[in-house]
Amino acid sequence: MLEINQQKSTLINAHIDKYLMSIRQPKRSYLGASRLGAECSRALQYEFLEGCGEINARTLRIFAIGHLFEALIIDWMKNSGFELATEDERGKQFGFEVAEGKIKGHIDGIIKDAPKKLGLSYPAIWECKSLNNKSWNDTVKRGVAISKPIYAAQIALYQAYMESSIPGISQNPALFTAINKDTAELYHELIPFDMERAQRMSDKAVNILRACDAGELLPRIAANPQYHICKLCSWRNKCWEESYDSTMQR
Ligand code: SF4
Repeated sequence: MLEINQQKSTLINAHIDKYLMSIRQPKRSYLGASRLGAECSRALQYEFLEGCGEINARTLRIFAIGHLFEALIIDWMKNSGFELATEDERGKQFGFEVAEGKIKGHIDGIIKDAPKKLGLSYPAIWECKSLNNKSWNDTVKRGVAISKPIYAAQIALYQAYMESSIPGISQNPALFTAINKDTAELYHELIPFDMERAQRMSDKAVNILRACDAGELLPRIAANPQYHICKLCSWRNKCWEESYDSTMQR
């Protein structure tokens, strides 16, 4: 009986996954601010040249669940005294693009007002993540900059590049919110603008674009594919099959 149920479960999942894959967004053709803090520039170069890699249905389910958590938290914050804008006056997500659209960022929200006793200053970037128990606990324990440097980089870039459209936003700490997907606990951290980090990430993006234009492949992050980051990298096979001086064309 259990075996039949497992077969049915697999079949049902196949139907759901087929639907999800049919509505997935086209691959993106820019460097996203949310990814620039990733440790390997070569992986980012592949992402830029070939899109985000092969996205499977499970990843799409994870993204969709993340959006639902975010919508819930937006509702909770708006109903607890925060003026939180998630769209601009044209009904579009806040964001920026530079380098002829080759570097872009999309922002979860802008805090425009908050309960006075919290002592927040605004306008401020709001960034929201849903994390599993282990990841959430580590973020609470060590803080965003150490536990999640990729998020710290994302926020620093948002603060830097949104200043021209929302003056003053880089002078106010961003609010980072994370929900524990297992326990529903919430964590909030104020993130002051880290100009040096933003500059480093911006320089990194420019270097990746320059290498792509020149047809150069950037160095690998490690000397062998057993390195822990390489083991999880979706470009692993391509990367270690390609010779260092390969020429790549868009
Ligand atoms: S396999 Fe390793 S070196 Fe290659 S792109 Fe991925 S992380 Fe970078």
